[in-house]
Amino acid sequence: MKKVEIAVIGSGIGGAMIASLNQKKDLILFEKDKNLGGCASTFKRFGEFFNAGATTFVGYEENHVIKKIFDEVGLKPELIESHVAIRTIQNKKIVDRVENFEEFLSNLNSVYYHENNRIFWKTIKEIDEKFWKLKNIYFSKYSFKAYAKTALFIVELFKEFGFLLFKTADGYINEVLPNISKEYKAFIDSQLLITLQTTSKDLSLLALSLGLSYPFHKVYYSNGGMGKIVEDLLKEVNVSNKEEIISIERFEDKYKIISTKDEYLASKVILNSTIFESSKLFLDEDIKRYYEKFSFNDQSAFVVYLKLNSKENFLHHYQIILKENIPNCISNSFFVSFSDKNDEKLSTNGYSITISTHSKAIFWESLTKEEYENKKEETKDFIINEFLKNFDFVKKEEISISFAATSKTFNRYINRTNCGGKAITLKNILELPSCNTPFKNLYNVGDTIFAGQGWPGVAIGADILNKML
Ligand SMILES: Cc1cc2nc3c(=O)[nH]c(=O)nc-3n(C[C@H](O)[C@H](O)[C@H](O)COP(=O)(O)OP(=O)(O)OC[C@H]3O[C@@H](n4cnc5c(N)ncnc54)[C@H](O)[C@@H]3O)c2cc1C
Repeated sequence: MKKVEIAVIGSGIGGAMIASLNQKKDLILFEKDKNLGGCASTFKRFGEFFNAGATTFVGYEENHVIKKIFDEVGLKPELIESHVAIRTIQNKKIVDRVENFEEFLSNLNSVYYHENNRIFWKTIKEIDEKFWKLKNIYFSKYSFKAYAKTALFIVELFKEFGFLLFKTADGYINEVLPNISKEYKAFIDSQLLITLQTTSKDLSLLALSLGLSYPFHKVYYSNGGMGKIVEDLLKEVNVSNKEEIISIERFEDKYKIISTKDEYLASKVILNSTIFESSKLFLDEDIKRYYEKFSFNDQSAFVVYLKLNSKENFLHHYQIILKENIPNCISNSFFVSFSDKNDEKLSTNGYSITISTHSKAIFWESLTKEEYENKKEETKDFIINEFLKNFDFVKKEEISISFAATSKTFNRYINRTNCGGKAITLKNILELPSCNTPFKNLYNVGDTIFAGQGWPGVAIGADILNKML
């Protein structure tokens, strides 16, 4: 049995960050898949490269936890700024979400005018700015010290935001934007679905503000694909890909790990598998029960990948909002990301396009192979047709490759059927999984624990965990 101090299981954003921060230690990172990065990986199919899920990169700015982590490991990612963070298109009406507040407001007012737009969006932006300036973002459990530090963070939140913390997103929208039109509400909700996997009905004002504000930050495209950032993070890390961890068992004060290739004895284990898929890894009943406690969050993705031979210029990101729901999905909008025209890896032979929307794992279960394939085809074709309607200068024949992924596909490649964590609310904050567990030297990292999904959310969790190791 090979001995190791730290075993990291999974090379998603969280696993990659924590492994790189501890790369000088006796550490090994296991990744089931060939590609590194999980939902943020870049993969090759039909000879071309595609981003699996994540396409937008936010948080590479001074005083941000992502920049802090990258600086610590000496990583300067190859980024191209997206001057328009997202172009939203609804009924042919366009709103560009740009960093400059006045420019954004003027774009917004030209389509979704409301006399209180300035107050609404200024408040949202200010709350987001205040949040990222907080000094003690912290969340962990299971010891007096952990609860005390978490309480300090909650006190800091109260001091900074006061009663605004108790406001619900919908309450705030109705108060400041009374009689908001259905279209305008759809514009807000479609953006929340991207960042928080849910609409305003389930959120606090704080979550609403963080979810809507990312385009006020610098938004980047990763040259060479999103997976390139993860690969660069892991350059100096001892990584074993195509090695899946099958079982883990406590062995004296350590953990015995069995993979598809070998056996290991690790002093510390960091799981980057989702909180919902971790129980099955353990042979110890108490650890199994611990993970089973977290109820499954059925938020998943449906993703269409295209190769497009077009001479036109495109922005990096578009959000298309439709009148009707997409079949077999829980959304009436989809997010389209184009590779940068000058990206030598993704844009050879045309643009590499990742289109994603929201679905549920349950929609794709208990189907015969034929039913599954038909359902997948129906959803893919619907999305491609709507894509063509909204980019009417694109010809169908210019699409040389098209295929799609469901929760089943994500499960096959990266062991997860859900895609994304639960949005934090005041009601659920104490139930949220943390980076530590009740078991000594067993930790979690990734988007199903605090602080949630995307580069910024996962980085906060990795940063808290790093202080514990
Ligand atoms: C369609 C889609 C679009 C998105 N768009 C964006 C975006 O534009 N910007 C953004 O910031 N975020 C985006 N997100 C969210 C973001 O991608 C995720 O929150 C983030 O990548 C999750 O990181 P993670 O650390 O939880 O790891 P995961 O991505 O879940 O990766 C975990 C890794 O662990 C491996 N693993 C699991 N079990 C084992 C095992 N037993 N043995 C070995 N390896 C194992 C898996 O193979 C996987 O590689 C998007 C997500 C999706 C699904």
